[in-house]
Amino acid sequence: MHPLAKLDHAHVWHPFTQMRDWLTREPIVITSGKGAVLRDVRGKEYLDANSSIWTNLHGHQHPQINAAINRQLKKISHSSALGFANEPASRLAAELVKLTHPKSKIQNPKLQKVFFSDDGSTALEVALKLAYEFTRRTRQPVGRASSRAGSSGASPRPRFLSLDGAYHGDTIGAVSLGHIDLFHKAYGGMLFPTDKVMSPYCYRCPFNKAKPERADARDYRKCNWECVGKVEQKFSAQKKRYNPYAAFVFEPLMQGAAGMIPQPSGWLKRVSEIARSHGTLLIADEVMTGFGRTGTNFASHREAVQPDFLCLAKGLTGGYLPMAATLTTQRVFDAFLGKHEEFKTFFHGHSFTGNQLGASAALASLEILQSKISLTARAELETALAAGLATLWQLPNVGDIRRVGLVAGVELVKDWRTRKPFALRERVGIRVCEAMAKRGVLTRPIGNVIVLMPPYCTTPAQMQRIIQTLHEAVTEVLGNSTRK
Ligand code: PMP
Repeated sequence: MHPLAKLDHAHVWHPFTQMRDWLTREPIVITSGKGAVLRDVRGKEYLDANSSIWTNLHGHQHPQINAAINRQLKKISHSSALGFANEPASRLAAELVKLTHPKSKIQNPKLQKVFFSDDGSTALEVALKLAYEFTRRTRQPVGRASSRAGSSGASPRPRFLSLDGAYHGDTIGAVSLGHIDLFHKAYGGMLFPTDKVMSPYCYRCPFNKAKPERADARDYRKCNWECVGKVEQKFSAQKKRYNPYAAFVFEPLMQGAAGMIPQPSGWLKRVSEIARSHGTLLIADEVMTGFGRTGTNFASHREAVQPDFLCLAKGLTGGYLPMAATLTTQRVFDAFLGKHEEFKTFFHGHSFTGNQLGASAALASLEILQSKISLTARAELETALAAGLATLWQLPNVGDIRRVGLVAGVELVKDWRTRKPFALRERVGIRVCEAMAKRGVLTRPIGNVIVLMPPYCTTPAQMQRIIQTLHEAVTEVLGNSTRK
């Protein structure tokens, strides 16, 4: 075993990893990367098919981002946002506001203020605290007054509504919003209660509205939007004096860790209108979908939805450094203004809030993102991804293929006819990804869903290799036959 692998085995505890399995084999030790290629300590090269857990946008060692960080290194790496401003963070906040305010019809509400933090989880924590406190301070009774609540003037604690299968991070607030039992149940006793509502999962639609075997053949004309109806019911069932929900939290267009589950066109627009009509704020978690992954800069905008809070992380710095941002409106900001002694301050912050190196990387990344070269490359890559995925339908264990822009999930099942899932203990997703790694392609499954989310610099030829490798790996693990 390589000495660095031994060191890892001796001391490192890996996230979301059964360490007993981990310790049975030599880990891949990544030492460098360039473009879409990662290289390990033994010199073997791999394609980074999940953008290093959905973070990397433009490839590793991008000359523009490297240069931006190097320039900043010569000035200063970090100074505190507690008490001081800095150039890259101010510029980045302005750029983000510009980017989230497209010239099109999506004008309202205008996102004006940026609160920086460290990662996706903390971006969500910031949104949660702000939405909670904003709601507590500003909400008015709805409908006819109920005398009981009215007499004391007290309003019940605002709650949050999120989606079935939701994953928003691993800090306690973010876990409270989560609804993946496998991850979240163990911590139940530590969490605050939130409500969940059905999210669309057309492949396993309980109303059986998505019968055709292939997602690309689905006929939504037969769908009565029962899933939207469930959201409506959730809100109208609350016969309280106050709308109980401070905010409705969602990943727009595609739920990631839930298993790459796309929402049919129109779903987000409809449910957002329902939430808004009940006076509920919208928190869009674009930690995965942000920065062009789904085709537009932000997924919410594809449905002409402008949230009250936009949570960004992962790709913010091009995947270089841990940094996150929560954008919100002037209205929310104003609710925290007051005389010093009123203590309306937002009491929240992190040591590395507004980090100068991270903000410099992010500014360079945003410039690349908006360049013509990147736009063209993304369009070509999307075509290659779509064409490649289409070839996988012939495999009998490919139950569903789901894609939005440059994010894809391939759900492996026992039998495509019955859609019967593999039991998690069979580790089918993990075994397929191990077979891919052997062939030089790295990704990580979500249960039995194989995730493909390549960096934007991935060439169509590299994309073809990723698809071919997945095809071979599924065949190696599950047998060689075709759909009949
Ligand atoms: N939200 C979403 C949608 C995510 O996919 C993730 C991480 N995969 C998070 C939040 C949490 O981000 P982080 O791991 O950076 O805390």
